[in-house]
Amino acid sequence: MDIYNKSVVELSKLLNKKKVSSLEMTDYFINRIKSFDSKLNSFITIDEDHARKQAKIADELIANNKNNLLTGIPIAHKDLFSTKGMLTTCASKMLENYTPPFDATIVNKLNEAGMVNIGKTNMDEFAMGSSNESSYFGVVKNPWDLKKVPGGSSGGSASAVAARLIPIATGSDTGGSIRQPASFCGLTGLKPTYGSVSRYGMIAYASSLDQGGPIATSAEDCALLFNKIKGYDKNDPTSNFNTDQDEVKLALKKQDTKNITIGIPKEYFSKDLDRNISDIIYQSIEVFKKLGFNFKEISLPDHDYTIPAYYIIASAEASSNLSRYDGVKFGHRCDKPKNLEDLYLRTRKEGFGKEVKKRIMIGAYALSSGYYDEYYMKALKIRRIIRDNFINAFKDVDYIFAPTCPSTAFDLGEKSSDALEMYLSDIYTTPVNLAGLPAISIPVGFSNNMPVGMQIIGNYFTEANILSIAHLFQEETGWHNRIPEDFDHE
Ligand code: GLN
Repeated sequence: MDIYNKSVVELSKLLNKKKVSSLEMTDYFINRIKSFDSKLNSFITIDEDHARKQAKIADELIANNKNNLLTGIPIAHKDLFSTKGMLTTCASKMLENYTPPFDATIVNKLNEAGMVNIGKTNMDEFAMGSSNESSYFGVVKNPWDLKKVPGGSSGGSASAVAARLIPIATGSDTGGSIRQPASFCGLTGLKPTYGSVSRYGMIAYASSLDQGGPIATSAEDCALLFNKIKGYDKNDPTSNFNTDQDEVKLALKKQDTKNITIGIPKEYFSKDLDRNISDIIYQSIEVFKKLGFNFKEISLPDHDYTIPAYYIIASAEASSNLSRYDGVKFGHRCDKPKNLEDLYLRTRKEGFGKEVKKRIMIGAYALSSGYYDEYYMKALKIRRIIRDNFINAFKDVDYIFAPTCPSTAFDLGEKSSDALEMYLSDIYTTPVNLAGLPAISIPVGFSNNMPVGMQIIGNYFTEANILSIAHLFQEETGWHNRIPEDFDHE
């Protein structure tokens, strides 16, 4: 059964035509994980029994014609989505033994669609990182080159999908964690508009920036998943009503390309960007020009302030969100605490890793009286300016193209001792989160045998359009179908 290289759309057809059952497909991918994941470490939990139970239910739905395009398709969730009865660790010792009593809304919606949850993917601890080196459960490797990082923080999801151990996975993007690993692993990843997907049950890192979304091989598959997970949820007051379009149909709709103008922000193509990446992006722009799109250089000023503002805001929110891990309510508790203070101190000292502690300290400092105005307030003002700059740009152009990352995947260990270098790898992704906009990263070529990603950034709630632009490109090119050699076999 040669199905590892099929997209969700293709797998769905096989299920529908009864060429394969969901149970067979589920066993097939479980076996693939068992044979290949020792090289990658992309999974934290594999729950075979749970998966087979869901697959049997999916097969019944298919037999009774009660299925949709996602019914019976295996998926894996980033290990920060709460899964009822299934370990949810956030890749931290703090939650090493935590089993939630409820499902995150995303998980719940996909369960209801009949998807088969095979397990939970590895990630940076509490989603803090750009390389997947901060997981309590060990580093994840990039299937294109096992000496390189897969990107972070959704590195497990990206690594697993790139090696075709699973056809599609969920991720979360606070400052780039869907788009950056998608780019490093040659995949398509959608970061939706802030509020278009419920955050309920997604363990919080920085609540005003966090947003869940799909990591898949194609824009079409991302559209399928996004269509199911989006929408208002009474459990998340920041979720939005404004998402009723059918992205799948829209994604396949022919665009009136001659009337679409795409902005190229000059600040994103400066000396910080690897020359090869810039050349590859310009080559793919030629493909878009042939499709009829118009291009225009634009300016997104104040770009240099993005990283400082992002890391202050994200750390400030993290320091507040992570105060709940105190050894009282849930998660790790230190042994034999002498008193309450000892309980707090030792629990948090033992439970959190180095990067998480660093962020908590930066955040607490930025929020402390005396420094609040100097750091946190200033960062919020920069955030507003960055948002306004995007809004101004969208008066002039319909979409914006940008590199996803300044380099391709770097070596394991290369940046882990230099925090600033690591943080700078988010320079092209974080502005989108600060503004709350949607963006997709698509593979557009290779530099030194490593995949290169490009972002299509849209105005608020234009997911359907950016998906369809990505889809048009993927119909013309085959980059998204490439599979790393070591994993391109049964
Ligand atoms: N690399 C960024 C950070 O560490 C983004 C992480 C994310 O998007 N979850 O904060």
